[in-house]
Amino acid sequence: MLQNITKIYGEQKAVDNVSFSIDKGEIVGFLGPNGAGKSTTMKIITCFLPPTSGTGIICGHDLDQESIKVREKIGYLPEHNPLYLDMYVKEYLHFAAGVAGIKNNIKSRVKSAVERVGLEKEQKKKIGALSKGYRQRVGLAQAIIHDPEVLILDEPTSGLDPNQLVEIRNLIKEVGKDKTVLMSTHIMQEVQAMCNRTIIINNGQIVADDNTNNLKSNAAEKFVIKVEFDKSVDVEQLKSLGKVYDVLEIGQHIYQITAEKDLRKEVSSFANKNALNILTLQKEEQGLEDTFRDLTK
Ligand code: ADP
Ligand code: MG
Repeated sequence: MLQNITKIYGEQKAVDNVSFSIDKGEIVGFLGPNGAGKSTTMKIITCFLPPTSGTGIICGHDLDQESIKVREKIGYLPEHNPLYLDMYVKEYLHFAAGVAGIKNNIKSRVKSAVERVGLEKEQKKKIGALSKGYRQRVGLAQAIIHDPEVLILDEPTSGLDPNQLVEIRNLIKEVGKDKTVLMSTHIMQEVQAMCNRTIIINNGQIVADDNTNNLKSNAAEKFVIKVEFDKSVDVEQLKSLGKVYDVLEIGQHIYQITAEKDLRKEVSSFANKNALNILTLQKEEQGLEDTFRDLTK
């Protein structure tokens, strides 16, 4: 739980009065454009940065007073996953276990983390020799090595190719099953694919915090269709087909109509009446992307 967190770097307000709380077991997406304040917020949650003002309680521990306890509860994968490329995977994870304060059973902890993220074959390799997808697995293994209750993952899939992306998403779902997860991303599809709840941040402020499906259906109150006729049409006529918010001519004889309802039937009878042929007619998929664009304009 964060309460009224603000972070000012010099003149720059990076995080502006941010509050939210996350229930145990949730997988929450933290969505926002670059520079929105995602990483700064995550560094505050993980006690890597003190806030300029505000308070937070993580698993019952105060951010300011009990930072060591907070860190014990949190597994953190920082942005750009800074790894020691010269270290061997296993060696690095032993080191990470030490940093996480593990004193007993280090060997079995490393073994279990390696198994959970699917690094058995790579564990004897140097980190520098691994693909980006496998380096992210090492980062995830590091984050879960002390079996934390909470995972804070900062853009865990950025820079991965499409196959690696799917693998890492599945892995996050898998290792996140019995944990509370907050993962940041600047990609809408990512939260759509992974998170029940989405918090959207823009210019340091929370602009939405809702069930991901609700955010999607808010956008779906508008219908966008794209129609291509065989000749030019008066835009004003298209505007009179129903409750139309906007008509754009987006190509030769191609119009994009945004309206309160799906106007495909109306468009088709309009074409019949006016001896026009419809070459293509399609309804555009509206989704979270639109909400995101509207909120972060
Ligand atoms: P995001 O992770 O959403 O891209 P950040 O939290 O990294 O956003 O950055 C938020 C804002 O704070 C940006 O405008 C960024 O330039 C600024 N910022 C981040 N880190 C620092 C820093 N160490 N010093 C000064 N400004 C910073
Ligand atoms: Mg960032």
